[in-house]
Amino acid sequence: MGLEDYNKKRDFEQTAEPKGKNESGGGKLKFVVQRHAASRLHYDFRLEMEGVLKSWAIPKGPSLNPEDKRLAMMVEDHPYAYRTFEGSIPKGNYGAGEVEIWDEGTYEPLEKVKGKTDDAVMQAELANDSLKFVLHGKKLKGEFALVKIKNATDGNPWLLIKHRDDFATDHYDAEENTAPDSKVSEYLEQKKGKKKALNPRRK
Ligand code: MN
Repeated sequence: MGLEDYNKKRDFEQTAEPKGKNESGGGKLKFVVQRHAASRLHYDFRLEMEGVLKSWAIPKGPSLNPEDKRLAMMVEDHPYAYRTFEGSIPKGNYGAGEVEIWDEGTYEPLEKVKGKTDDAVMQAELANDSLKFVLHGKKLKGEFALVKIKNATDGNPWLLIKHRDDFATDHYDAEENTAPDSKVSEYLEQKKGKKKALNPRRK
């Protein structure tokens, strides 16, 4: 996919987001989940691969409950440097709103292949529309699958599914697992307050 789409959608004179260029961390593959209040609140799930971050927008956020099959819309590749991005995207720009890191860590393929790097294994799985990996995050841990929905008519929808393992739970809500001092929550509260000020009769 490359980073052309990413760069095209953004005006780097206006947004503090990093300019797209290929690079990678070397060493263990990284993942990040960013909580993003844009026109709608969603969670951006990103896996390092091929020197970029392969990216999916998850409206309800990731879950540790194997019963929750979370819709994950694959979006344009983001640069590796995006994994540390937090802050505001100014009004009028693509994804305008507030971004914060919700979880981060390293990840690896569930099934290793002798003589192949983890990156190469994951790239091959991506080409096959089915990823199986282990997350080593602060919140997200253990085995997950990310599979493309076949014959979808709109966009590029996938499902993120937790495997049953020691980290699986029978109830999980990403919002409940957000830090109380969250900047994004503060931003959402302010937005709500503004709406109320404009429509005082509305509750
Ligand atoms: Mn987003």
